[in-house]
Amino acid sequence: MNKTIAIVEDERDIVDLITLHLERNGFRVLSYSDGASFLESLKGESPSLLLLDLMLPDMDGFEICKTLRRGEEGSSLPIIMLTARGEETDRVLGLELGADDYVTKPFSPRELVARVKAVLRRQEGNRERGSLSLRDGLLTIDTLRYKVLVEGRTVELTATEFKLLKLLVKKRGWVFPREKILDYLWGDEKTVFDRTVDVHIKHLREKLGPAGDLIKNVRGVGYKVEE
Ligand code: CA
Repeated sequence: MNKTIAIVEDERDIVDLITLHLERNGFRVLSYSDGASFLESLKGESPSLLLLDLMLPDMDGFEICKTLRRGEEGSSLPIIMLTARGEETDRVLGLELGADDYVTKPFSPRELVARVKAVLRRQEGNRERGSLSLRDGLLTIDTLRYKVLVEGRTVELTATEFKLLKLLVKKRGWVFPREKILDYLWGDEKTVFDRTVDVHIKHLREKLGPAGDLIKNVRGVGYKVEE
């Protein structure tokens, strides 16, 4: 069966362009011009991927992202953000926690289709393996069993450390500012300070031993994982 791609975008010509190219590549396309109608559609549809515009008439793309990630439907739906040049790109690049990738307008449809396929492939790979591995197996995260292995040996992490590590590893190469990490770990209930993130990172690095240096400090910004 053809995979379904959902598009949330209020600019008709962009929707038409993307639809044309995705259908040519064998995808089924559902498009929505605002966030509410898309979220409503999830009661009946379960798309394989979402192309999400940031600037929408009712709610912005970030809001939709957050809503999806919090709920049951769509919490693991891969998302590619469509952003306008300059304005949101930087934020999306490193800061937004919910999206899997982004493309900047104006984009080439061919590139967009390639990104869609890449994200779907990655998603399938992760689902099959249920694990993420770095530096030839130095560090492995078994996301199904909530286990972390360094050089094949199990490392005991707290739930918070596990969540933090999974975030950084899943989006490796992306820089996460302390504030976004706090948001991700504690959401609206956060009563902790920026320094809390540093403390968790410190413990995490110690526990990871030889794999600890995979977590890099980005001066003045936050943290990232890089191979
Ligand atoms: Ca728009």
